[in-house]
Amino acid sequence: MIGYGKISPPSVLSAGPPLEGASARALLERALRRAEREAPSAIAIFDLDSTLIDNRPRQAAIMRAFGAARGLPELERCEPDHWQGWDFRLAMKNAGLSDEAIRDHESAFKPFWFERFFTSEYCALDQPIAGAVEYTRAVADTGAQLVYVTGRPEDMRDGTLNVFTSRGFPQPGGDRARLIMKPTLMEGDDIYKIRVHDELRELGQVVAAFDNEPTHINGYQDGFPAALCVHLATDHSPRDVRVAEGIPSIRDFTAFARRGSD
Ligand SMILES: [Mg+2]
Repeated sequence: MIGYGKISPPSVLSAGPPLEGASARALLERALRRAEREAPSAIAIFDLDSTLIDNRPRQAAIMRAFGAARGLPELERCEPDHWQGWDFRLAMKNAGLSDEAIRDHESAFKPFWFERFFTSEYCALDQPIAGAVEYTRAVADTGAQLVYVTGRPEDMRDGTLNVFTSRGFPQPGGDRARLIMKPTLMEGDDIYKIRVHDELRELGQVVAAFDNEPTHINGYQDGFPAALCVHLATDHSPRDVRVAEGIPSIRDFTAFARRGSD
């Protein structure tokens, strides 16, 4: 029998190693120049979770609440770094729970998580991916349109807008920045993200797209071949889909935020 000792973080399914330092910075600046050149019709698309937003603090808070509810002190001490991808069993193990206890509690965790993860209350804990606030503000300053396209459901709009405000992201509203969300949680993310392509075409010219899901960044590259598509090598759903050849990966937006300092 395979024990939970075999649990390991998901591999990054990039086409190549993530760009770092000057290479990453050059890529981000190239997208900025395209936005500037094609403004005001230029559109830069940004996914939220694991692209601009680190939701591991939300995941850890849910795990701590679960630990409190079930009398599991190891889980009550769960930290964001214990989450390495979407596998909650790995997070439980990293928090110090035994293999036997993981088996005992895993089925109860799923509904507990589901009731909380997609809520404005818990998403208030979200933090920006490094450099993401600085970069999205720079894109907005070009005069291009910023479009956040997220698989979060409309129910989370208020909480998501609050996070934009509190963390300093360009605020959606008007025609310079928009937030497109799933009408309901039940619509599949893959279908939804492709469905939105037509809406994006009507808004202007897509010059850049950023998404951590290989399926979704590949979809943008197919739908908008002239756009600069960038994969965020953070985490992704547990599917064996690789980022298409030619799509560069970055780990975060740090290279842009630190420009001029190295
Ligand atoms: Mg995402």
